[in-house]
Amino acid sequence: MTAYQYWNPGMETMIRSELEAFQLEKLKWAVKNALRTPFYAKRLKEAGVDSPDVIKTLDDLRRIPFTTKHDLRDGFPYGFLSVPKDEIVRLHASSGTTGAPTTIYFNKEDIARWTTFVARSIYATGCNKTDVFQNMITYGLFTGGLGFHAGGEEVGMLVIPSGPGNTARQFRFMRDFGTTVLHATPSFLLHVESKMREEGVKRESLKLRKAFAGAEPYSEDTRKRIEELLKIDVYNSYGLSEMNGPGVAFECQCKNGVHLWEDGYIGEIINPDTLEPVKEGETGELTLTCLCREATPILRYRTRDLSSFYNEPCACGRTHRRLRRITGRTDDMLIINGVNLFPSQIEEVIMSMKEVGNNYLIVVEKDGALDRLTVRIEVSSAVFTDDARLLNVVKEKIRKTLQASITINPKVELHEHGSLPVSEGKAKRVQDNRPKDV
Ligand code: AMP
Ligand code: ZN
Repeated sequence: MTAYQYWNPGMETMIRSELEAFQLEKLKWAVKNALRTPFYAKRLKEAGVDSPDVIKTLDDLRRIPFTTKHDLRDGFPYGFLSVPKDEIVRLHASSGTTGAPTTIYFNKEDIARWTTFVARSIYATGCNKTDVFQNMITYGLFTGGLGFHAGGEEVGMLVIPSGPGNTARQFRFMRDFGTTVLHATPSFLLHVESKMREEGVKRESLKLRKAFAGAEPYSEDTRKRIEELLKIDVYNSYGLSEMNGPGVAFECQCKNGVHLWEDGYIGEIINPDTLEPVKEGETGELTLTCLCREATPILRYRTRDLSSFYNEPCACGRTHRRLRRITGRTDDMLIINGVNLFPSQIEEVIMSMKEVGNNYLIVVEKDGALDRLTVRIEVSSAVFTDDARLLNVVKEKIRKTLQASITINPKVELHEHGSLPVSEGKAKRVQDNRPKDV
């Protein structure tokens, strides 16, 4: 039986009624704090929330209007700041693949609070101070680097700030310092595994035991693939810069959904069209209220991430609710000849097939009036031979399996291992080349 370890046992296993009472107090604090910012002073007052006293129960959260990415951009640079500028000590910005970035400011206490949530997350996976942690994620404005770095130090691990890229150097660090824990995007972990085989790095020469994978959506089959190929125990890590970064929700050793740290964040699942809460357990847009940051309060933030809550308690004893794996974002849905398609549906199918390698790309184009979907897939060297007949058999198999699952007939292209682009940050899985509507 696993002996579960807790970073903050009192908080992590607190009975629900007490946890909710704690949230209510924090919510009042967050509203009071928000009223000090130019943005919320106006927005909350317009909604009749002109004082924290308006919040009497957790249900009163619904009196607070939603905040969107658009609002954050409009508020750039200081519309969301609630403390004097000389009190802030750090800023981070969202990776913002589209449009201007959004900026979040932290004071010293905010950094300390954030760090404990990351430390708690790392500790929940069974890591401890004897571990050597190679943080193979981008440092800089992106929160994954410094966020995990600080959390790892808080746990007492030796942290190697390797950042991503240069796999030869990564392998050298792993050997030289006896790395036991990795953090990377799932796509980079798959890339590391491919390079390991290519460069003949012997798995037995490394001490790797655990990995945190996050920052982008991935399927359960992708997790299994990384675990089997790298012989490593993989944990899902969910976070976003608007809510500090990593350490918002994390898997425990039961690996059945990510525990949302509810003493730091209030989660709601809403229907993105009606903005009403969905029925218990249903999928919708995750909306988060930050209870643990003073300098940049953000309330009821529409993350655009699609998820749902598990209702059953977790065997680890933590009382904080778990979220299901993010299946996509409201804004990454593709419409192919009228059929709705999330990239994650394609990943789910192909990553369960053994012929498929570690990388793929979805391309959408116009073919006359119609949309055409092409899935470019790397296959292993065993499959990618000169035997055209074998290649065709594999291609047909993948095409048929995909079509049965997504109801769209895709074109499948097989590519040699290592030939599709690899991103050091979040993987870019979709290339939509259709002309944009004007
Ligand atoms: P950023 O603010 O740049 O850190 O990006 C945050 C976004 O990355 C989230 O809103 C999600 O869309 C995505 N993301 C982060 N972690 C995960 C995860 N474990 N699974 C799926 N998507 C994730
Ligand atoms: Zn658990």
